[in-house]
Amino acid sequence: MRVAQLGSGTPEIAVVAGIHGDEPCGVRAVERLLDERPTVNRPVKLVVANEAALERRVRFIDEDLNRTFPGDPGAKTHEGRLAAALVSELEGCLTFSMHSTQSHADPFAIVNGVSETATELVPQLPVAAMVETSNFAEGRLFSAVDTVEVECGLQGSETAAQNADRLTRAFLTAVGALPGDTVDRELPVYRLTDVIRKQQADTYEVFVENFTPVEAGAPFAAADGDEQVADERFYPVLMSSNGYRDVFGYAAEKLDVLETTTAAD
Ligand SMILES: [Zn+2]
Repeated sequence: MRVAQLGSGTPEIAVVAGIHGDEPCGVRAVERLLDERPTVNRPVKLVVANEAALERRVRFIDEDLNRTFPGDPGAKTHEGRLAAALVSELEGCLTFSMHSTQSHADPFAIVNGVSETATELVPQLPVAAMVETSNFAEGRLFSAVDTVEVECGLQGSETAAQNADRLTRAFLTAVGALPGDTVDRELPVYRLTDVIRKQQADTYEVFVENFTPVEAGAPFAAADGDEQVADERFYPVLMSSNGYRDVFGYAAEKLDVLETTTAAD
């Protein structure tokens, strides 16, 4: 784990990259901040988490770090120990953690609950949606640390790296670390309701678009040509044919649209 800081004092804000070693976009954003060293109005902690996995360009060494929190300093796995170290490093910090996916190109935010912080902060980020994953929080960073996660785009893409940079700057502006204003946008909010499992197969297909509703009775994915059909209407989120080993992704319900709070006079 690499830890650095912008500004002086004890940070209450942190930016975390590289929870997953095969998602380099956030690391680029952090490195750019370290190169440019912008003047900040509040101190910011910068963390590159899983350096060993990043070096090998793999998601993890022993187990998925974002299913391992709070971890244990005496854990047998690299990620178990790293999770514990991260939790103590990030204690007391509102944390911004960057990811990328194989499922969706447009950035969206993932939060553990529609909290006051999330409701205020996330509409100021350049994201298309906010996804609430409290039903599936176990082992994730935000189960242990106050965190907003963002999916920056497609894994390994230049666009995801550029998005990571824009998202980080918007976050740092929204929390008052960088000067300037952010734009508030209306934001649909989704809550994950189910895991969509996939059986062992050689080839996987996904027929639907994330955040576009799938009607009851519609086929949405297949494993070796075996179609899976929707029992009821749902919104697919984080769905991809090969993004995860044993799940296609998640089913979500649409909760609400967060209206902008800025008065139009
Ligand atoms: Zn990730």
